[in-house]
This record gives sequence, C-alpha cells and structure tokens, in this order.
Amino acid sequence: MDYCIMAKNLFIGNKETLVSKCILIKDDRIIKVVDIGEEVDFIDDNTSIIDAGDSLVMPGLIDAHTHFFNGALAHSEHVCCDIESSTSEEDCVRIISDYAKKHPNEKRIRGRGWFVTNWNDAPLPTKESLDAAFPNIPVYLAAADCHSYWLNSKALEECGITKETEVETGYIGKLPTGELSGMLVEMEACEYADRMFRDFSTEEQKEIFLSFMDYAASFGITSLSEMMPGEYDEEYLKKYKVIQQLGEDGIAKCRLHLFTKLFDVDNYDTPKQWKKELENDWLKLSGLKGFIDGVAETYTGLLLEPYTDRPDTTGIGVPAISLEELKQRIYLANKAGLPVRIHCIADGSVRMALDAFEYAINKLGRKLPNTIEHIENIHPDDICRFSALGVIPSMQPMHVILDCDGKINRIGEERIKYEFPWKSLWDSFGGVALGTDYPVVSLNPFDNIYAAVTRKNFDGSEASHNPKEALTIGQTLMGYTYWGAKCYGREDEIGTIAEGKLADVVILNQNLFEIPFDKIRDTKVQLTMVGGKIIYEA
Ligand SMILES: [Zn+2]
Repeated sequence: MDYCIMAKNLFIGNKETLVSKCILIKDDRIIKVVDIGEEVDFIDDNTSIIDAGDSLVMPGLIDAHTHFFNGALAHSEHVCCDIESSTSEEDCVRIISDYAKKHPNEKRIRGRGWFVTNWNDAPLPTKESLDAAFPNIPVYLAAADCHSYWLNSKALEECGITKETEVETGYIGKLPTGELSGMLVEMEACEYADRMFRDFSTEEQKEIFLSFMDYAASFGITSLSEMMPGEYDEEYLKKYKVIQQLGEDGIAKCRLHLFTKLFDVDNYDTPKQWKKELENDWLKLSGLKGFIDGVAETYTGLLLEPYTDRPDTTGIGVPAISLEELKQRIYLANKAGLPVRIHCIADGSVRMALDAFEYAINKLGRKLPNTIEHIENIHPDDICRFSALGVIPSMQPMHVILDCDGKINRIGEERIKYEFPWKSLWDSFGGVALGTDYPVVSLNPFDNIYAAVTRKNFDGSEASHNPKEALTIGQTLMGYTYWGAKCYGREDEIGTIAEGKLADVVILNQNLFEIPFDKIRDTKVQLTMVGGKIIYEA
C-alpha cells in the first residue's frame, strides 16, 4: 500500500516552524513532499489518502537514550514491577506471591523495583522470607537502583553461589550464622543473578521485544537505543540476532541502535565485524558507550570542586577511568569509525570527556557524532566547547523532575545555576538530543516534552532552580527527531520528513504548538508509521 498524508500542520524535524504539505510514501520511503492540492501522478488505486486535519504530523519520535533490553523485560509479563510499591519485606513477598499465582508457567519468578528506603529503612531482606513462600522455584528480585538482588535458596542454588563464592567488588550477603543471606550487592555479585534474570529462549525474546516495540509505537516512538554497553560475547550477539531477524522477517516495529563496550577491550575489531554482520534498516551498531562517573545522589557524580554537603570529596570512587586512558579509547574508537557516547553527570566528568574528545578530534582531524550523556550540571566555561568539537549534548528532561530537590544540597547555590543547562547548550551548540533513559523514567514522550518546555513537576510546581533553561516546543521536538537521528548517525535516513527518507511518520491528536503546556501530557498518538507500514492506529 502507498500513502498520501495530507498534513495541514506538518513539523518536518529540523525547523522550529510548521508547514502545510502532502507526504507521498511508496514502499518504505518518502518519495515526495509536495504542496497540498498540487497535481501528482503518484496517486492511484493502490494509494491510501490520509487527511490528518488539524492534527500534528511529524517524523517518528526518536528517543536518544534508552535501555532497550532491560526496558523490554521490565515491560513484559515475565517481570513483576508491582513490588515497586511495596512498603516492607513482608508486603513485597505478598505482592510477588500474588504475581506468581497469576503466572503459573514461569520457570523463575522475577521482580524489579523493591527499595529499602521505601521500607522505612528496614534492614536488608533475607532469603528466609522468600524461602517460606517459594520453597521450590527460584526467585530473583532486583532492587530499584539495580545495584542489588534479593534471591531465595533455589535461586542461589541455580546461580551456583555457595558460602565459598567470592567476589572482588561488592559482596555476597551472609547471615550471622555464616549462611548465605540471599543478598547480592554491586555488579560483580549481581551478574550471577542477572544472567538468570535475562535468560529467555529465542522465541520468548522475540515475543518480549515485539510487545515492547508495540508499546513504543503507541507513543509514536520509531527509534530506540540500547545504551548499556554490551559485551562482545555469544549471549549478546545472539540477542542482537533476534532483532536482526525481526527486521529480515519484516515484523520489526521499531529501529534499534546498539552502543557496545568502549572500555576493557583490546581493540574494536569485534564491533566493526558485528556492524557488517548485523546491520539492516532496523538494527544498527551505532557506536560505543563508556561511563566516567555515577550519579550525584550517591556522591558518585564527578565534580570539579567538592560536594557542598560533603566537602571531603569531588566524587566517591570516580572517575572510573583516567583522562589519559579515556583519550586513547576515544581516539581508537573514532579511528575505527565508531562514534562514542560518554555518561557524564557532573561538571568534572563533562570537562574530562570534552578534553578527551578534543584530543581525539585533533589527532584524527575529523569529527564523528560523539555525544555526552546526561550533563546534569556544567562549568560555564565548557558550554561553548560542544560546538567547537561537534560533540552532541544528549539530555533527559524528565530527570529534572526526578531529581527535584536533592541537587541543591549536593552542589549548592552557585553551581545549581548550571543545573540541566538545556537552553544554554542549545543556544551555544544549536541543538540538543532528547531522551528518557527508560526504564529509569517512563518511556512516555509527552511527559518528557512537558518537562522540557516547563521544567515543572506534574502538579505545576517548579522542579528546577533555573527555569530559564526551558526549551521551546519546536526545539524540544527537534531534540526528539532530527537530533536523535544525529546521535544515531542516521540523519540522512530518519528524523526528518523529506524526499528519500525512510517513512517513519506519526500523527498526534493535537497540535503541540497551539495548546497550553498543561495539556501536553494529554496528547494521544493517532497513527504511527514505521518504514511505510502502519504499526499503530488509535
Ligand atoms: Zn542510561
């Protein structure tokens, strides 16, 4: 089927204003964009004409920063996320028991989202309460911050963890008796459980991914990423091949962009090889990902000057890598043709990344679409450096709401002026890529767009200390289309409505340029088209 979409209100992706046009789509491409009423020989019996009326028509939304695989799993029926609302260990066991009764076919019980801070700072839970309710089936419950797991005895056994098992970082919890407690803390210990948590057959994976792609389409999202740096092993390759196959079979509903491991590898031959082996229109290995720091809330964000409420530190245990090593890593990756995205929360890590990108770019003599992720605060001297280096700022508006009051205590009055500097970076660089970091916050783009243009909580109260850093609606939508495509190195294929581009188009039920900000969150998607196929229709 070919399509002709009549769009009175068309946002094309790389301009802040709207135009009135007719989009002609054949197979998976936009073949022409013409004035409404213009004679075209394209329309025939095989052409479906869609009159969008007063609705807003725009390129498919591109969320520039998501964790596809974890997110898809969190969204699926295989994981119980209701434990997020648990108020105590007993309450959590009760919720997960209810879930287990309703899901008798699961061979493991998985949950995500319990948090002791929501349990009145009770002591960490133990396997004993889980063993009483689940004597025969392994139970894996990930904490909300993803830094610990709570297991029952069956799960400990399945993972092969014994009293003798040792880890170099983090710990495997013990009871006063010396028995295992069921707690696994920090990455190395958690990896034992995580391997089982994400262990699904190819068929199950297909179903999980497709269902999540449907969910994304219901929000008008047509491109996502996997930002957790993937390992270069068989398990990851197999998972990527499932997505590749969905594309080959013509049943993928969303484009996925992988960012694999930047650190702890000898060279970048494997990602270069995988690019050749895996890529199609639906799956790209778009670059590499690395972390310099953690999060400001736990003092693991790297600051240039000490924390205001912890004058003894500029960041605990960070940077995760030396500047010299970072420079080499970025240089080698860019030299191999692979763009790099670096997680930088605070002004110290942002400066370090900029210094490293500067080194690599000077040495190479060319600029790749490298990005810095998050940028929750910045030193004012560094704002202008993004444009000189062509490094794209990639930011998550909803995080201003998440963080609301915490940061002022951490970084103080002066530095808070440069908290979430979206507008300053936009004005200096000429763009900002926007995303959610799903599943850290909801995938809903309209909540995120609301946060970008208001910097307010959902109840209308201020969420930030510098409201002047809000974006306009036009900038926000460019951040969600054209600039997202730039982060994925695909601005020639997606992110704008133009001749020759892949036909990723959405129609929203209201014109975001004309409604008051407090109505943005009511926006509904009427239609999502990906590669010329209608994937979702309200
Ligand atoms: Zn992330």
